[in-house]
Amino acid sequence: MDLFKELKAAVEGRVLKDEPMSLHTTFKVGGPADYFMIIKGADELAKVEKILETYGVPAFVVGNGSNLLVSDEGIRGCVITFERPEYPIRIYDKSAEGVNVEIPAGTLLSAAAKAVAREGLKGFEFAAGIPGTLGGAVLMNAGAYGGEIKDSILTAKVFRDGEILTLSKDELSLSYRHSSLMETGGVILSAEFFFEYGDKDQIFARIEELNAKRREKQPLEYPSAGSTFKRPEGYFAGKLIQDAGLAGFSVGGAAVSEKHCGFVINKGGATASDVKKLIDEVIQRVQESAGVTLEPEVRFMGF
Ligand SMILES: Cc1cc2nc3c(=O)[nH]c(=O)nc-3n(C[C@H](O)[C@H](O)[C@H](O)COP(=O)(O)OP(=O)(O)OC[C@H]3O[C@@H](n4cnc5c(N)ncnc54)[C@H](O)[C@@H]3O)c2cc1C
Repeated sequence: MDLFKELKAAVEGRVLKDEPMSLHTTFKVGGPADYFMIIKGADELAKVEKILETYGVPAFVVGNGSNLLVSDEGIRGCVITFERPEYPIRIYDKSAEGVNVEIPAGTLLSAAAKAVAREGLKGFEFAAGIPGTLGGAVLMNAGAYGGEIKDSILTAKVFRDGEILTLSKDELSLSYRHSSLMETGGVILSAEFFFEYGDKDQIFARIEELNAKRREKQPLEYPSAGSTFKRPEGYFAGKLIQDAGLAGFSVGGAAVSEKHCGFVINKGGATASDVKKLIDEVIQRVQESAGVTLEPEVRFMGF
């Protein structure tokens, strides 16, 4: 047997060879992954991990690629992503105060937030405009406009060393754009949340209000990975970059957005190397001008 044949058999053919990662990242850059596969859940993941281990091939899990910079050389190994499930959420426990909701890793946050809103549940409005999946959002403790994953998550199911673990919110130790899984590793399969009842019209109005804010303030017309840098304590990354005179500063096809200096954008034809060089230059110049060290929020793969 060869590796490709075995992987194909394990996931009913949902695997590609030499797949450009530019097709799977919102930056629209990144070279080929040796293998790229879409899996349905823990059973397939277990099978695939065993096969990859036998062949000594590394595995990398991605969601919607909305916080990723993949190198131009691509990824030597197998990139795994979860399929978008047919039902974005599963309600499993109702009480007078609210509802417990399970969300699978591959669900887009926009779909989950709308499904939660349709149930008349509040607390997930902030997630509607974040273009990632639930898995990526839990790993990153994604957040916006005063809300974050940490506020409503109860547990996460995680696949690690061939076992499915249920990690409590405390064990996930979520803080600003951080979870314990960044150190321990593990693949997020799903997470459980608790949401309180609210007024459905108000919930949808809040989603629309936040999406309008994004359209007004963010350069959504260009490929990017959102805010490129974390917010340094006591500062705003975008303001520091603007004050350093870097609005519009570019390297190749990558540029600091003039609309929102916290965003590095692909103005057209950018390579991962352009983006990386631009990020490094911005860090250096802000360090020189303000004495603040910016830290990328974007995750690097294949560098
Ligand atoms: C226009 C735009 C606006 C954005 N706005 C926001 C915002 O307001 N707030 C915010 O927090 N972020 C924002 N982001 C960034 C991004 O959408 C979030 O970080 C999101 O949570 C990433 O999810 P993803 O599925 O795309 O993850 P990916 O980018 O695919 O991966 C991110 C990290 O998560 C890991 N990962 C993905 N899935 C899993 C899994 N199942 N198990 C374990 N690890 C996994 C990957 O290995 C990688 O390290 C924005 C991005 C864009 C492009």
